[in-house]
Order: sequence, then structure tokens, then C-alpha cells
Amino acid sequence: MKNERMYQELLELIRTDSVSGQEKAIVGKLAAKLRDLGFTVTMDNAGKALGGDCGNIFAWREGEREGSLLLCSHMDRVGEGFGIVPTERDGVLRSNGATILAADDVSGLCAILEGLRQSLSIGQPLPRLEVLFTISEEVGLLGAKQMDASQIQSKIGLFFDSSGPTGRIINAAPGMYFLGAELIGLSAHAGNEPEKGVDAAKIMCDMLSTLRQGRLDELTTANFPMLSTGSHTRNVVCDPASFKGEARSQEFRRLEEYVAYFKDHCLRVAAAEGAKICLEIEELFRPFHIGEEQEVLRLARRACGAVGLACLVESGGGGMDANIFNAQGISSVGIATGYYKNHTKEEYLVLED
Ligand SMILES: [Zn+2]
Repeated sequence: MKNERMYQELLELIRTDSVSGQEKAIVGKLAAKLRDLGFTVTMDNAGKALGGDCGNIFAWREGEREGSLLLCSHMDRVGEGFGIVPTERDGVLRSNGATILAADDVSGLCAILEGLRQSLSIGQPLPRLEVLFTISEEVGLLGAKQMDASQIQSKIGLFFDSSGPTGRIINAAPGMYFLGAELIGLSAHAGNEPEKGVDAAKIMCDMLSTLRQGRLDELTTANFPMLSTGSHTRNVVCDPASFKGEARSQEFRRLEEYVAYFKDHCLRVAAAEGAKICLEIEELFRPFHIGEEQEVLRLARRACGAVGLACLVESGGGGMDANIFNAQGISSVGIATGYYKNHTKEEYLVLED
């Protein structure tokens, strides 16, 4: 059965242009909708810190009974988020092929708004409800990282931002580091006196060929796909060279162990072969894992059961805002909202979901 009110809101928000750092138009609409629902709405300074045009929205409504629940989605989209023309056929919504659809994450925004509307209309006592709509999620969870989480009273959170059918619950996601190295050798004429040079390109190759990478164990991976040298001619011993990549693990301890190994390995090879080295080691977000015994997962399972949805609890492969808030003690899971192939022009949303 189609919920016409929710469908029209979905179309309205999809047609509202938004991209990471430029979420102002959709922020205005969402803030007004939350105010209409009786929420106190605030915007933080995350946008200023990130050079964007607005901040995260944090809104709350005091409850009539004990408890507090955080509901979260993100307002930005990957590139090609402008001028979207949503088109429905046979219960599936797609773009016209020129852009993404932005069901990631407009479907999450709409799930929260309509869920609030229906919960409030029933008139039963509710717990304190907190709504967080973030900016710049798609470019590294930047809005969530800027959010002052001490404002959040909830100890549990539902993050409506996952692909797949409704009923799919993401209870784990890996943590991630950006890793890389810049090597400085010594240039010299390749024919006259190569022995006076220090070949940064060769040292980089030695470093990478002896570095453990790929599938490290069942929970941990590392990958270094970006290699470059500063040389544009053949007749010089290469002076600068650099490489970049990432490491992920479902377990933070293993990730930390790998990062320590990466650092030690690179410093050792560089010292042995006489290059200067500058390492890039940046923690992006931490992994999380929510066990069956935890309240937020039991709540999500119960809610699915109450509306007749089969639950599929599994781990996700990427990072989401839930990574940031789990690390700050707010026990959170991801909730799928029926979109598929997000971040591509083939993105679609199953309207029944
Ligand atoms: Zn998303």
C-alpha cells in the first residue's frame, strides 16, 4: 500500500539539491519539518569548521516516559546530486539516468520524518526523541566527527543509512586508517653517476613488495593502489616517490597492530636504503560490533517483528556515521531503507520498502 504523504515528501527532498558542503537548501526544509512536529531544532558550527554552507541539525522532543532514542540520517549526497529527476516505474524509483537518485540518504530522512509523524499521531507516551541530520557524511563522516556528542542524551541510536531491503540491520562495520608514505631520495645523472643517487622509486617498490597487504586475516584488509614518482624523464635517478592506501578491520586492536607494523616496516626499509621518509597515518573511524544481547539490536529486531519484517542482521563493509557515535558510547546500528546501487546513476529505491 502506498503512503502518498511519504512518497510526496520523498520526491520533494530528492528534488532539493544537496551535495557534501552545500546542504543549505535541504537543511532549511528539514528544520521546518522538525519544528512542525514540535521539535526544538538547533544547528551546530560544523559547516564553518568544514568550509560548508551549513551545519548538522540536532533536534529533540522531550518524552512523556523514560528513555531516549537517537534517530540519524545524512543530508548530503555524493557528486551528481543536483537536478535529480526521479522517475517511477512498477514500484521502483530511479533517476532519469543523468544523475544518482539520492535515495542514499533521502529515504532515511523520510523514514525518520514519517516515523515521527505516525508515532506522534497515535498519541501514546513516547521517550525523549533526538534527531540528528548530518552534513558531509559521504566525504569521510566529517559532519558527524564535528558534532559535539555531549548534547546527545540517548545511549542508543538507529542510523537509517544502509542499502538493501527494510529489515536488514547492520550491527558491525570496520574501522579504517588512511596510510601512505613519501620518500625523498637523491637525484643524480642516470648515466654519469647513478651511484651518487638514492633511488626513491626503487626503495618504494622494495617497501611495497615486502609489505603485508591484501587480505590479512578474516577481519582485516590493506590495499595500496596509488603510486607516484616525481620523475618525468628517464635520465635521472628518481628523487621523490610516494604511495597511498588504506587499512580496515572489524577489530580495532588488529587495525592498530597493522598500523604499528606498517610504520615499523616503512621506517626500517627507508633507513636501510638511505631515503628520508614522511609517513601519513590518519585514523578515519573505529569499527563497531553490536552483540545480540545489546538493547539497540533487540529494539531494532522487535520493531521489525512488530511490522512483519524478516530481520537480516549482518556486518557492512564501509564506514557510516554510526561508527563515530558507537566510538563515543552511543550504541548504534544501521537500518536499511530499500535502496540499491547507491553512489551510481543506476541507484534505485524499492518504494514498498
Ligand atoms: Zn549514505
